[in-house]
Amino acid sequence: MTIRAITSGAAAGHVVRPALAHDHSLCIRTALEQAEQLCADSGARLTPLRHRVLELIWASHKPLGAYDLLDQLAREGHKPAPPTIYRALDFLLEHRLIHRLASLNAFLGCSHPGDAHAGYFLICKSCGNTEEVTDSAGLQQAIRRATEAAGFVMQQGTLEISGFCQQCRHD
Ligand SMILES: [Zn+2]
Ligand SMILES: [Zn+2]
Ligand SMILES: [Zn+2]
Repeated sequence: MTIRAITSGAAAGHVVRPALAHDHSLCIRTALEQAEQLCADSGARLTPLRHRVLELIWASHKPLGAYDLLDQLAREGHKPAPPTIYRALDFLLEHRLIHRLASLNAFLGCSHPGDAHAGYFLICKSCGNTEEVTDSAGLQQAIRRATEAAGFVMQQGTLEISGFCQQCRHD
């Protein structure tokens, strides 16, 4: 079985609900395998630093800021300069392996990299877990209709919805 078959199987059978208990090591493994495969397919260089940055972003379902990343790397004995980190982040964004959440100025691993898509996110204000809405066809259509009706040309259609996740709304 190829890596692609394994990861797509895992992705299909493993619907990530960050707020609920799940085997997060599977999320990390799937994300890294997908990234390695996508970069190999497109000839992009997933250097050890880029790989590590992606892994750190995937450490949880909470978006991670650039300075948290720098702190983590410094604790591991690396001391990359901020521009190096920003270049690594740019690479990961460019290859659609992560998303940038403007409202938090932070980064989140993409749960279905490889296909171009606008990001729709549910951000929990209590625990910080952020879920990417992957079943977004209806949303996409509604946004397209609304923008077209306004005669507006959309360039970027990220949606960041804040609130309380399933676990936190009961607290
Ligand atoms: Zn997970
Ligand atoms: Zn995504
Ligand atoms: Zn929560």
